[in-house]
Amino acid sequence: MLIVMRKDASQQQIDAVMQAVKFRGCKARPIPGGDRVSIAVLFNQGAVNESWFEDMPGVKQTIAVTRPYKLVGRETKPQDTVIQVGPVSIGGGRLVIIAGPCAIESETQAMTIAECVKRSGGDMFRGGAFKPRTSPYSFQGMGEEGLKILAKVRETFGLPIVTEVTDLACFDMVEDYADVVQIGTRNMQNFSLLRRAGESRKPVFLKRGMSATVEEWLMAAEYILSEGNPNVVLCERGVRTFVRHSRNTLDLSAVPVVQRESHLPVMVDPSHAAGYRDQVIPLARAAAAVNAHGLMIEVHNEPDKATSDGAQSLYPNQFEILCRQVRAIEGILKE
Ligand code: PEP
Ligand code: MN
Repeated sequence: MLIVMRKDASQQQIDAVMQAVKFRGCKARPIPGGDRVSIAVLFNQGAVNESWFEDMPGVKQTIAVTRPYKLVGRETKPQDTVIQVGPVSIGGGRLVIIAGPCAIESETQAMTIAECVKRSGGDMFRGGAFKPRTSPYSFQGMGEEGLKILAKVRETFGLPIVTEVTDLACFDMVEDYADVVQIGTRNMQNFSLLRRAGESRKPVFLKRGMSATVEEWLMAAEYILSEGNPNVVLCERGVRTFVRHSRNTLDLSAVPVVQRESHLPVMVDPSHAAGYRDQVIPLARAAAAVNAHGLMIEVHNEPDKATSDGAQSLYPNQFEILCRQVRAIEGILKE
């Protein structure tokens, strides 16, 4: 249930309603709106009775929330969520381009790629220091050394950093260095990790599970919001299907569905969807056309030598072309 407070409700009245919610054994989460506060009633066992709160001073109305994702859904918060990361606004109207290598491999590699990202008009830098690999024998990432390199990239180029957290053991460390903490497709339903992300002070970049429905994906985001972190960016990165011409199948229809259902920003990662570099630019153009809030792109200066995902990594000059074309499409949509 959502308790909508009157515009002129005092802080004392808001606190009293929060107390009443707790008295009924539920959690109360205030949601500041443009001109009034609403209070979401969470973790209720069974039905919540409207009459408990309806007549309290300062309450305008109570609304039953019909979707299972209470905090993530537009029923609770109709306005788009805009997340500020340094100078970058995610969900604020301008398409945000996050780019970089799959994995941080050395300082020279990261700096070379970051220079290209910056010069081409990318907004944020990505790169894994902890890599979730299918094989235990594959390169697992540079760990803290990789995070330190990411911090240097931020310092040198002023690009905010997105990097993946793979488990609870490395969460504190990744959180200290990252501007945005990424949870990958394989961890989308790692509920203890999601809860920890909900306690984080950093925004979370939540990729769609490779076999997850949109509802399951939004429920994963709900875990993070229910623990108190309102800053979640969703990212469609392709789902597994029967096809073999691409690594995954990019589900672009998920973008308008998520935008209808949720106030959270939703981005698209065509690199992990495609698996092959020649598909990445066309899919990125399509993602811009479908009005995604941003893109995540893998770029490498020497893709043939990359420790992971070289086949889907763009050459620097291709990334430059991608940025130009995507910005042109963005411009048309604003006309
Ligand atoms: C990544 O972005 O580096 C990554 C591993 O992506 P995904 O979780 O989508 O496979
Ligand atoms: Mn990758």
